[in-house]
Amino acid sequence: MELLEMKWTDVAVLSKETPIVIPVAALEQHGRHMPLFTDSLLLGEVLNRVKPAVGERVLFAPLQWLGNSEHHLDFPGTMTASPRVYLDLLRDMVENFVFHDFRRIVLLNGHGGNIVPMQQAMFELRQKYRKRFDLLLLSATYWTLGGKPWESNASLTQRQMGHACEFETSMMLRIRPELVGDLSHVEAVDWGNAFSPAQRAWITKDRTETGHIGDPRFASAEKGETLFQVFSADVVTLLERVIAWDGVEWDA
Ligand SMILES: [Zn+2]
Repeated sequence: MELLEMKWTDVAVLSKETPIVIPVAALEQHGRHMPLFTDSLLLGEVLNRVKPAVGERVLFAPLQWLGNSEHHLDFPGTMTASPRVYLDLLRDMVENFVFHDFRRIVLLNGHGGNIVPMQQAMFELRQKYRKRFDLLLLSATYWTLGGKPWESNASLTQRQMGHACEFETSMMLRIRPELVGDLSHVEAVDWGNAFSPAQRAWITKDRTETGHIGDPRFASAEKGETLFQVFSADVVTLLERVIAWDGVEWDA
């Protein structure tokens, strides 16, 4: 079900156990070869594949494209909420549904910079509603749900998501190849260790001059299809767990 196509009277009669999915992504630089709307377009395609599988059992809010992208601001065209505003934006979107008495709410994310804020926003909401034990507040990023796409397609060289990388460029080649620029002069940009396992704070210019991280040279539409299939199946599996939750247990 699509929230933006419904009347308030339709929403009023829904079961309050209906899972709500709020997709969140970004509009930010994606290297010299990929469009600014990459994260939102890719999450949109994941959603296109997930929605038929869950049918009328899940309510989808429209995709929120303004994300936490301040680390990319040095690259023209990037748009961002400031980090604290973004926390409040996520909190408000989730809390709107809590106010409407829904209990199973999932932030479904398609941008790395949103991971920490969405977890923090859900953490703060759980503290606020600490007397309630019927709320399921989940945040999930579509490429971190356990799928190993390289086991389905051995030609994939990366083992993690980068930025405008083999993964993202392949997926864009699959859905909007006309938006992918010339790859003939693109070079690999290594992740580096960045004091791992500590977490080093960064802006994108610390790590890459072009704006991408990873190796887009190996991208192909065929790999993109594999990535969409694996990641979409992971999201469906997660939503089936949310649907099947008994409303009480910690586990599912
Ligand atoms: Zn991206």
